[in-house]
Amino acid sequence: MKIDVVTIFPEYLDPLRAALLGRAIDRGLIEVGVHDLRNWTHDVHRAVDDAPYGGGPGMVMKPQIWGPALDEVCGERARLVVPTPAGKPFTQALAHEYAAEEHLVFACGRYEGIDQRVIDDAARRMPVDEVSIGDYVLVGGEAAVLVVVEAVVRLLPGVLGNPVSAEQDSFSDGLLEGPSYTRPEVWRDLAVPEVLRSGNHRLIDRWRRDRALERTAERRPDLLDALPEGSLDKADEAV
Ligand code: SAM
Repeated sequence: MKIDVVTIFPEYLDPLRAALLGRAIDRGLIEVGVHDLRNWTHDVHRAVDDAPYGGGPGMVMKPQIWGPALDEVCGERARLVVPTPAGKPFTQALAHEYAAEEHLVFACGRYEGIDQRVIDDAARRMPVDEVSIGDYVLVGGEAAVLVVVEAVVRLLPGVLGNPVSAEQDSFSDGLLEGPSYTRPEVWRDLAVPEVLRSGNHRLIDRWRRDRALERTAERRPDLLDALPEGSLDKADEAV
Protein backbone atom coordinates (compact mmCIF):
# COMPACT_ATOMS: atom_id res chain seq x y z
CA MET A 1 0.00 0.00 0.00
CA LYS A 2 1.16 3.52 -0.83
CA ILE A 3 0.35 6.30 1.65
CA ASP A 4 0.95 9.97 0.82
CA VAL A 5 0.35 12.89 3.16
CA VAL A 6 0.24 16.55 2.12
CA THR A 7 0.77 18.99 5.00
CA ILE A 8 2.39 22.29 5.94
CA PHE A 9 4.10 20.52 8.86
CA PRO A 10 5.93 17.49 7.37
CA GLU A 11 7.86 16.94 10.63
CA TYR A 12 4.55 16.33 12.43
CA LEU A 13 4.30 13.06 10.48
CA ASP A 14 7.69 11.73 11.68
CA PRO A 15 5.95 9.17 13.98
CA LEU A 16 4.77 7.41 10.80
CA ARG A 17 8.32 6.10 10.61
CA ALA A 18 8.41 4.84 14.23
CA ALA A 19 7.54 1.52 15.89
CA LEU A 20 5.01 -0.71 14.10
CA LEU A 21 4.59 1.65 11.12
CA GLY A 22 8.36 2.04 10.74
CA ARG A 23 8.76 -1.73 10.70
CA ALA A 24 6.04 -2.01 8.04
CA ILE A 25 8.01 0.47 5.90
CA ASP A 26 11.31 -1.36 6.47
CA ARG A 27 9.69 -4.65 5.45
CA GLY A 28 8.24 -3.10 2.26
CA LEU A 29 4.61 -3.59 3.37
CA ILE A 30 3.85 0.13 3.02
CA GLU A 31 5.47 3.02 1.20
CA VAL A 32 5.05 6.45 2.80
CA GLY A 33 5.51 9.87 1.21
CA VAL A 34 5.15 13.14 3.14
CA HIS A 35 4.90 16.31 1.04
CA ASP A 36 5.24 19.94 2.09
CA LEU A 37 2.26 21.85 0.67
CA ARG A 38 4.40 25.00 0.52
CA ASN A 39 6.41 23.40 -2.32
CA TRP A 40 3.43 24.27 -4.54
CA THR A 41 3.42 28.00 -3.59
CA HIS A 42 4.89 30.63 -5.92
CA ASP A 43 5.09 33.79 -3.76
CA VAL A 44 7.96 34.88 -1.51
CA HIS A 45 5.90 34.35 1.64
CA ARG A 46 4.90 30.83 0.54
CA ALA A 47 1.35 31.64 1.72
CA VAL A 48 -1.19 28.82 1.76
CA ASP A 49 -4.18 30.66 3.28
CA ASP A 50 -6.42 33.65 2.63
CA ALA A 51 -9.39 35.41 4.25
CA PRO A 52 -12.75 33.63 4.03
CA TYR A 53 -15.44 34.76 1.60
CA GLY A 54 -18.45 35.97 3.58
CA GLY A 55 -16.26 37.22 6.43
CA GLY A 56 -15.71 35.64 9.82
CA PRO A 57 -12.70 34.67 11.89
CA GLY A 58 -9.75 32.57 10.71
CA MET A 59 -8.27 31.83 7.33
CA VAL A 60 -9.06 29.26 4.64
CA MET A 61 -6.48 27.20 2.73
CA LYS A 62 -6.17 28.32 -0.89
CA PRO A 63 -7.47 26.11 -3.73
CA GLN A 64 -4.80 27.23 -6.23
CA ILE A 65 -2.11 25.68 -3.96
CA TRP A 66 -3.99 22.51 -2.96
CA GLY A 67 -5.25 21.73 -6.49
CA PRO A 68 -1.83 21.29 -8.19
CA ALA A 69 -0.45 19.53 -5.07
CA LEU A 70 -3.18 16.88 -5.18
CA ASP A 71 -2.98 16.61 -9.01
CA GLU A 72 0.67 15.67 -8.63
CA VAL A 73 0.45 13.41 -5.58
CA CYS A 74 -2.77 11.50 -6.32
CA GLY A 75 -1.99 9.69 -9.59
CA GLU A 76 -4.43 7.18 -11.09
CA ARG A 77 -5.62 4.98 -8.25
CA ALA A 78 -5.77 7.20 -5.17
CA ARG A 79 -8.53 7.42 -2.60
CA LEU A 80 -8.34 10.89 -1.05
CA VAL A 81 -9.00 11.26 2.68
CA VAL A 82 -9.59 14.75 4.06
CA PRO A 83 -9.72 14.87 7.87
CA THR A 84 -12.28 17.35 9.19
CA PRO A 85 -14.45 17.52 12.32
CA ALA A 86 -17.35 18.02 9.90
CA GLY A 87 -16.69 14.63 8.23
CA LYS A 88 -18.30 11.21 8.60
CA PRO A 89 -17.00 9.28 11.62
CA PHE A 90 -13.85 7.22 11.10
CA THR A 91 -14.70 3.70 12.27
CA GLN A 92 -13.12 0.25 12.33
CA ALA A 93 -15.30 -0.63 9.30
CA LEU A 94 -13.80 2.29 7.37
CA ALA A 95 -10.31 1.24 8.50
CA HIS A 96 -10.96 -2.19 6.90
CA GLU A 97 -12.14 -0.47 3.69
CA TYR A 98 -8.99 1.66 3.56
CA ALA A 99 -6.81 -1.38 4.23
CA ALA A 100 -8.03 -2.81 0.92
CA GLU A 101 -6.95 0.30 -1.07
CA GLU A 102 -3.81 0.49 -3.17
CA HIS A 103 -3.12 4.19 -2.60
CA LEU A 104 -4.35 6.52 0.15
CA VAL A 105 -3.67 10.26 0.00
CA PHE A 106 -4.32 12.44 3.05
CA ALA A 107 -4.82 16.22 2.80
CA CYS A 108 -4.11 17.91 6.15
CA GLY A 109 -6.12 21.06 6.74
CA ARG A 110 -5.12 23.87 9.12
CA TYR A 111 -6.81 27.14 10.14
CA GLU A 112 -10.54 26.98 9.21
CA GLY A 113 -9.86 24.16 6.75
CA ILE A 114 -9.41 23.77 2.97
CA ASP A 115 -11.47 25.66 0.35
CA GLN A 116 -14.38 23.26 -0.36
CA ARG A 117 -13.78 23.43 -4.14
CA VAL A 118 -10.55 21.44 -3.67
CA ILE A 119 -12.57 18.52 -2.31
CA ASP A 120 -15.39 18.93 -4.85
CA ASP A 121 -12.90 19.07 -7.73
CA ALA A 122 -10.97 15.99 -6.56
CA ALA A 123 -14.27 14.09 -6.20
CA ARG A 124 -14.78 14.48 -9.97
CA ARG A 125 -11.77 12.21 -10.52
CA MET A 126 -11.38 9.92 -7.50
CA PRO A 127 -13.15 8.63 -4.39
CA VAL A 128 -12.94 11.28 -1.66
CA ASP A 129 -13.89 10.93 2.02
CA GLU A 130 -14.14 13.76 4.50
CA VAL A 131 -13.64 11.95 7.83
CA SER A 132 -13.72 12.93 11.49
CA ILE A 133 -11.80 11.07 14.19
CA GLY A 134 -14.16 12.27 16.93
CA ASP A 135 -16.48 14.97 18.18
CA TYR A 136 -13.85 17.53 19.12
CA VAL A 137 -11.79 20.07 17.18
CA LEU A 138 -8.03 19.70 16.67
CA VAL A 139 -5.69 22.41 15.39
CA GLY A 140 -4.80 20.52 12.22
CA GLY A 141 -5.34 17.30 10.28
CA GLU A 142 -1.90 15.80 11.02
CA ALA A 143 -2.81 14.14 14.34
CA ALA A 144 -5.96 12.74 12.70
CA VAL A 145 -3.86 11.26 9.88
CA LEU A 146 -1.59 9.52 12.41
CA VAL A 147 -4.68 7.98 14.03
CA VAL A 148 -6.21 6.81 10.74
CA VAL A 149 -2.96 5.45 9.28
CA GLU A 150 -2.15 3.48 12.44
CA ALA A 151 -5.64 1.95 12.51
CA VAL A 152 -5.37 0.99 8.82
CA VAL A 153 -1.80 -0.29 8.67
CA ARG A 154 -2.20 -2.71 11.59
CA LEU A 155 -4.89 -4.46 9.52
CA LEU A 156 -2.57 -5.12 6.56
CA PRO A 157 -1.45 -8.74 6.18
CA GLY A 158 1.94 -9.33 7.81
CA VAL A 159 1.99 -6.17 9.94
CA LEU A 160 0.85 -7.62 13.28
CA GLY A 161 2.85 -10.48 14.76
CA ASN A 162 -0.36 -12.37 15.49
CA PRO A 163 -3.19 -11.46 13.05
CA VAL A 164 -5.76 -13.10 15.36
CA SER A 165 -5.32 -10.22 17.82
CA ALA A 166 -6.89 -7.79 15.29
CA GLU A 167 -9.77 -10.23 14.75
CA GLN A 168 -10.54 -10.26 18.48
CA ASP A 169 -10.23 -6.53 19.10
CA SER A 170 -13.04 -4.20 20.07
CA PHE A 171 -15.50 -3.52 17.21
CA SER A 172 -14.63 -6.62 15.15
CA ASP A 173 -17.77 -8.40 16.41
CA GLY A 174 -19.58 -5.12 17.05
CA LEU A 175 -18.76 -5.13 20.79
CA LEU A 176 -16.09 -3.59 23.01
CA GLU A 177 -13.50 -6.08 24.21
CA GLY A 178 -13.67 -7.10 27.87
CA PRO A 179 -10.84 -6.77 30.43
CA SER A 180 -7.44 -8.49 30.04
CA TYR A 181 -5.07 -9.81 32.70
CA THR A 182 -1.51 -11.15 32.93
CA ARG A 183 0.73 -12.46 35.73
CA PRO A 184 0.89 -12.28 38.73
CA GLU A 185 -2.26 -14.07 39.83
CA VAL A 186 -2.79 -11.61 42.71
CA TRP A 187 -1.56 -8.01 42.57
CA ARG A 188 -2.27 -5.46 45.33
CA ASP A 189 -4.97 -7.79 46.69
CA LEU A 190 -6.67 -7.96 43.30
CA ALA A 191 -6.98 -11.47 41.89
CA VAL A 192 -7.28 -12.52 38.27
CA PRO A 193 -10.80 -13.96 37.74
CA GLU A 194 -10.78 -17.67 38.60
CA VAL A 195 -12.30 -18.80 35.30
CA LEU A 196 -9.32 -17.43 33.29
CA ARG A 197 -7.05 -19.76 35.26
CA SER A 198 -9.35 -22.79 34.86
CA GLY A 199 -8.03 -23.98 31.49
CA ASN A 200 -11.65 -24.60 30.42
CA HIS A 201 -11.78 -22.80 27.06
CA ARG A 202 -15.54 -23.12 26.61
CA LEU A 203 -16.08 -21.37 29.97
CA ILE A 204 -13.36 -18.80 29.21
CA ASP A 205 -14.96 -17.91 25.84
CA ARG A 206 -18.37 -17.54 27.53
CA TRP A 207 -16.86 -15.37 30.30
CA ARG A 208 -15.12 -13.12 27.75
CA ARG A 209 -18.28 -12.76 25.70
CA ASP A 210 -20.30 -11.88 28.84
CA ARG A 211 -17.79 -9.23 29.94
CA ALA A 212 -17.77 -7.77 26.42
CA LEU A 213 -21.57 -7.56 26.44
CA GLU A 214 -21.63 -5.96 29.91
CA ARG A 215 -18.94 -3.42 29.06
CA THR A 216 -20.62 -2.49 25.79
CA ALA A 217 -24.02 -2.09 27.45
CA GLU A 218 -22.49 0.17 30.10
CA ARG A 219 -20.15 2.30 27.96
CA ARG A 220 -21.49 2.16 24.40
CA PRO A 221 -25.15 1.08 24.32
CA ASP A 222 -25.32 2.58 20.81
CA LEU A 223 -23.13 -0.32 19.60
CA LEU A 224 -25.60 -2.90 20.95
CA ASP A 225 -28.46 -1.10 19.19
CA ALA A 226 -26.49 -1.23 15.92
CA LEU A 227 -25.81 -5.01 16.01
CA PRO A 228 -27.29 -6.82 13.02
CA GLU A 229 -30.40 -8.90 13.76
CA GLY A 230 -29.51 -12.38 15.05
CA SER A 231 -26.08 -11.33 16.43
CA LEU A 232 -27.06 -12.26 19.99
CA ASP A 233 -27.83 -15.83 21.02
CA LYS A 234 -29.91 -16.97 24.02
CA ALA A 235 -26.90 -17.00 26.38
CA ASP A 236 -26.01 -13.45 25.30
CA GLU A 237 -29.50 -12.21 25.99
CA ALA A 238 -29.33 -13.62 29.53
CA VAL A 239 -26.42 -11.27 30.41
N1 SAM B 1 -13.58 25.16 10.92
C1 SAM B 1 -13.54 23.74 11.05
C2 SAM B 1 -14.87 23.24 11.59
O1 SAM B 1 -15.39 23.84 12.52
O2 SAM B 1 -15.37 22.21 11.09
C3 SAM B 1 -12.45 23.33 12.01
C4 SAM B 1 -11.08 23.45 11.43
S1 SAM B 1 -9.85 22.76 12.48
C5 SAM B 1 -9.46 24.11 13.52
C6 SAM B 1 -8.44 22.68 11.44
C7 SAM B 1 -8.16 21.31 10.82
O3 SAM B 1 -7.96 20.37 11.86
C8 SAM B 1 -9.25 20.72 9.96
O4 SAM B 1 -9.21 21.23 8.64
C9 SAM B 1 -8.92 19.24 10.01
O5 SAM B 1 -7.89 18.93 9.10
C10 SAM B 1 -8.35 19.08 11.41
N2 SAM B 1 -9.32 18.54 12.39
C11 SAM B 1 -9.77 19.16 13.49
N3 SAM B 1 -10.59 18.39 14.20
C12 SAM B 1 -10.67 17.20 13.56
C13 SAM B 1 -11.37 15.99 13.80
N4 SAM B 1 -12.17 15.83 14.85
N5 SAM B 1 -11.21 14.98 12.92
C14 SAM B 1 -10.43 15.11 11.84
N6 SAM B 1 -9.73 16.24 11.56
C15 SAM B 1 -9.84 17.29 12.40
